[in-house]
Amino acid sequence: MAKVELKGISKVYDGVVRAVDNVDIVVNDKEFVVFVGPSGCGKSTTLRMIAGLEDITEGELLIDGELMNDVPPKDRNIAMVFQNYALYPHMTVYENMAFGLRIKKFSKDEINSRVHEAARILDIEKFLERKPKALSGGQRQRVAVGRAIVRYPKVFLFDEPLSNLDAKLRVQMRAEISRLHHRLDATMIYVTHDQVEAMTMADKIVVYKDGKIQQTGSPLQLYNYPENKFVAGFIGSPPMNFLTVTVLEEDGGIVIDEGGFRLTVDAKYAEHLKKYVGKELFFGIRPEDLLLSADAEAANSIPLTVSVVEPLGADTTLWLNTKTQTMVARTEPSRNFSVDETLHFVPRMEKARYFDKETELAILPREVSG
Ligand code: ADP
Repeated sequence: MAKVELKGISKVYDGVVRAVDNVDIVVNDKEFVVFVGPSGCGKSTTLRMIAGLEDITEGELLIDGELMNDVPPKDRNIAMVFQNYALYPHMTVYENMAFGLRIKKFSKDEINSRVHEAARILDIEKFLERKPKALSGGQRQRVAVGRAIVRYPKVFLFDEPLSNLDAKLRVQMRAEISRLHHRLDATMIYVTHDQVEAMTMADKIVVYKDGKIQQTGSPLQLYNYPENKFVAGFIGSPPMNFLTVTVLEEDGGIVIDEGGFRLTVDAKYAEHLKKYVGKELFFGIRPEDLLLSADAEAANSIPLTVSVVEPLGADTTLWLNTKTQTMVARTEPSRNFSVDETLHFVPRMEKARYFDKETELAILPREVSG
């Protein structure tokens, strides 16, 4: 299979729109890499440059060490699966899958064998004689994937392939694509705006914003050690809470003051926050790191008023208010909650993250934040 390297790649549309700005990415052989970020951040443009569907304005694209910038798409040995499937409506499933191989003048036997093999892997053998309009969305999606598989490409590219499916089918297809990745042992690059897809499928996630890479890492690296406030807020659902707080020195220790309450900073962070004494920063805490406490007097206990209760079965999401700010907590569904009641929570301070108010960069170095 293949290794894909992007070195200082940029895309400038019409001489002005810098859609992708100086990105460095290494996709290792057999790796499943997901590009994730909000709409318009440059993910698809990056994928299309890898496919050869867009010219590269600056930088180098290498596949297995070979420069690909000027190699036409058909010679890159890459297969792309599109969001809208791009199936030919007048052809059967079999013909749709065979088409690319016919163009390349493969023998009838070879085509037949590859189409049946892919159909078997994707469990669509019984649909081979149907036209796309006689298939469900999920089945069409499989045909689109099948068309990529039959080519035995070095690299698979997926551009938001599940966004036209309903929520349940999306979850199912997500698992199918992951299984396919293991079964084919293939290098795959996958674009999505959905952080849950990124977290569940990726070996490595590349988080984009405004054409720039914010952070690259494994799902849990990004979740546990976000390098900036954007990544911290983008990865995880419900998202991390951010409170604007003031850092103070109290009895020789470091505390943060929210206005409505004070929290003692975990000892391992205190040294790093000393230089912020008297200044504001963002205190970040994930919804599952707010622990419901029966003891209002417990250390670091904070009073929060319930504004919305969302019972999800396995857990309950609570939307909460401090005096001036909002928070969200994920709690066990062990009891009923009422709107306007005041609850006490103790944040797991060792899990808290802190972000500079100006740069929004995580304040603590990774080795300390473990
Ligand atoms: P994403 O896939 O993350 O949603 P895109 O890569 O499609 O984002 O787009 C990145 C930026 O480039 C957007 O601002 C978009 O409007 C712009 N863009 C995309 N295609 C073109 C084009 N053909 N001409 C001009 N601007 C474009």
